[in-house]
Amino acid sequence: MKPRTKLQKEVAELSEKLGEISESPKNWAKEHLFAHTAYKCKDELWCSECGKMWINTDNSELGTILLGDKTECPYCHHKLDVTVSRKSQNKEEIYMDILQVVGGFQVIRHILCCKYSCKSGFREHPISNPYYSFFETVQEWIAVNGKRTIIARPMNMGGNGWLYSEPLSIKNEYGSGYYNYGDVYSIHGWLYSKIEVLPELKKRGIGRNFPDVNPSRLIRSLLTGNNDAELCLKTKQMAMLKHMAKEGYYQLRYKPSFNICNRNHYIIRDAGMWNDYIDLLLYFKKDVRNAKYVCPKNLKVEHDLLMNKKRSIEAKLRRDRERREAIRREKERRENIIQFYKRMEKFFGLEITDGSITIRPLESITQFYQEGKAMHHCVYTNGYYKRNDCLILSARIGEKRIETIELSLKTLEVVQSRGACNQNTEYHKRIIGLVKKNIGLIRNRLSA
Ligand SMILES: [Zn+2]
Repeated sequence: MKPRTKLQKEVAELSEKLGEISESPKNWAKEHLFAHTAYKCKDELWCSECGKMWINTDNSELGTILLGDKTECPYCHHKLDVTVSRKSQNKEEIYMDILQVVGGFQVIRHILCCKYSCKSGFREHPISNPYYSFFETVQEWIAVNGKRTIIARPMNMGGNGWLYSEPLSIKNEYGSGYYNYGDVYSIHGWLYSKIEVLPELKKRGIGRNFPDVNPSRLIRSLLTGNNDAELCLKTKQMAMLKHMAKEGYYQLRYKPSFNICNRNHYIIRDAGMWNDYIDLLLYFKKDVRNAKYVCPKNLKVEHDLLMNKKRSIEAKLRRDRERREAIRREKERRENIIQFYKRMEKFFGLEITDGSITIRPLESITQFYQEGKAMHHCVYTNGYYKRNDCLILSARIGEKRIETIELSLKTLEVVQSRGACNQNTEYHKRIIGLVKKNIGLIRNRLSA
């Protein structure tokens, strides 16, 4: 898109003058970003730096080469890591970030560095072997107030690749906020060793070594006055800085405790664990402003000690809860039995029969359980024995259970009658008819 605002016009103009990246970062990338490999297949090796191939035998002057060894290419004399591989070509893509100061802006240039190498003769390479290419994909121009202007190549439709042949141009912010992970422009690549940073960043704690975190987010965070990131930098609490960067926002979870560490020159090595440890101290109501607690000599030991203690306390609480629950259930069970007898006693001994089918009420909760289990339905699981508006009867032929009947005590009608697995049986109509015919027996008991 065309630059519109005064800021965009200024940035576009400065970017124009910036030109292509120079040879030094390219050479640095060739040496430091890519692997230098000797691909070994049986006793044959080829060099990722010149593509030439040579034979290694036990009798050769190079001696036996073991995996993980270093060796030297006999042609280009590069030091190489030996990898056992059958591949005849290799492609690597790595991002390099270059920090520059231009016209009062902190500029972060993101360069996609590509290397292609192949075994000589595998494929004719028109230019060189290895073949390198460098694509500048994004420039972030960050003003002293932290506001960034993006210059980038367009992306393809899927948003997962750059259109390298298109020129760089001003782009809108993608989403909003510094910590938006949809932000495709804040690339975290390898930082080119020659670093230029704004004096404001130096004031806020950026030294000669830039920390290994996403540079764009850290820089914008610092320039917009993030004191927690600055505090970590100035007190050299790099583990905490990295931890916060990974969490996605530069904010200390336990700042007062962190300050105690700094006052005692205590460097936190494992920030995630330290945060957990402070959590545990708070759980045990320890004084988290006391160096004795917050600066442990052996963090892991103290952390594990408290964690195990907490675990056993939680386990005991869980057991207590389960015990209380078991007692409650037992009480409820007894209460159910008592209530069931009170309600249903009057139906005990009732029997309806036509000579072959006999229908009797279920007379205990155990019988509900047995009926439910034998018939594979929910008469027990759904607690029909708790309901005072229905009478449950079992229709049998001899000892064989045929159907289970639910009779409403309000309407004296059969609500349902079901055989095994809730299926109707060939006796279904007969059973319902039999109950209907004898409903007077039930009515008598009900009003007795
Ligand atoms: Zn070589």
